[in-house]
Amino acid sequence: MDINYKIKDGRVDLKSLNSSELIEYIESLGEKKFRANQLYQWMHEKLVTNFDDCLNIPAKLRESLKENAYLMALEPIRVQTSQIDGTQKYLFKLYDGNVIESVLMKYHHGNSVCISSQVGCKMGCRFCASTLDGCVRNLTASEMLDQVYRIQSISGERVSNIVIMGSGEPMDNYDNVIKFLELINSEKGLNISLRNLTVSTCGLVPKIRELADLELQITLAISLHAPNDELRKTMMPIANKYSIEEIMDACRYYLDKTGRRISFEYSLVKGVNDTKECASQLIDLVHGLNCHINLIPVNPIKERDYEQSNKDAIMAFKNKLEKCGINVTIRREMGRDIDGACGQLRKSYMEDSHESSSND
Ligand code: SAH
Repeated sequence: MDINYKIKDGRVDLKSLNSSELIEYIESLGEKKFRANQLYQWMHEKLVTNFDDCLNIPAKLRESLKENAYLMALEPIRVQTSQIDGTQKYLFKLYDGNVIESVLMKYHHGNSVCISSQVGCKMGCRFCASTLDGCVRNLTASEMLDQVYRIQSISGERVSNIVIMGSGEPMDNYDNVIKFLELINSEKGLNISLRNLTVSTCGLVPKIRELADLELQITLAISLHAPNDELRKTMMPIANKYSIEEIMDACRYYLDKTGRRISFEYSLVKGVNDTKECASQLIDLVHGLNCHINLIPVNPIKERDYEQSNKDAIMAFKNKLEKCGINVTIRREMGRDIDGACGQLRKSYMEDSHESSSND
């Protein structure tokens, strides 16, 4: 069994196994295949959080599983609900004490969950709160799944869309993210269509190409934020490694392989990337490419001096793109009253707990 799945005192992380791996594992314990199918259903369809809830699994096997394996379950430690739009932010504690956040957004077309892929992030984007303390570790597939499972259980809302746009860079945790996509899409689990899954990346070019080769029907979102390398380098350190031209080539490759329209995210920062000149450069950049541009008024964080563009500048930017026939939307700001931006809730929680522990 792959070492990746061994966590916590060498026990196997059962929720990260696909159904054939689970069968292999259960058979290695001298048990019949149908027990694996039962267990899979308990974990991925009925969303149980401990072995004792798996009622049709014999007590002896449950005991053996407790000894040799581990049923990943996140502990909700804070849930905040926006009074403005019902958006919910969840703060979860992991088995090792680390804390991550996820968001439930309710739209007319269904419920969308934004999940984290790492504890923290090492990409260093200048406007982002998730990266301020670096990356602590990757999340396992089960930890990504359980963000969705716990939110669905706690809120009682069926989740129909998932965006991997929380803390972390998913392409920097590639294998676990691919495993997560497989499991969340599994017919024996929540069976969420690949078309309803979005992976957002700051642009790790080789990984975008690797993902394209899998030909999955997921949406690829690129955090572009600037239309030229010079400006992008001031906002995102990854721009020193991969040029916009390389990213655009990888996007065209992704589109060729999957037929999926590319999404670009562009966070508008006052006086930095919201000028007419930037809009013109952006238009030239995406010319002829089947894509959608999502403009995000930057959510200011107190550690940085980036300010949100004013309404007129945002509208002017959008109109200029629209006039050239580009699909463009302004992202509605969800949950502004509850530390809405990436990593802000976790950060304020960590600061609170740090303060209270230093006051003890
Ligand atoms: N690392 C991945 C996914 C996580 S970030 C990526 O870079 O795409 C999800 C999106 O939110 C990215 O587009 C990111 O650039 C953007 N973002 C992060 N902090 C933000 C902020 N304070 N205001 C606006 N957008 C932000």
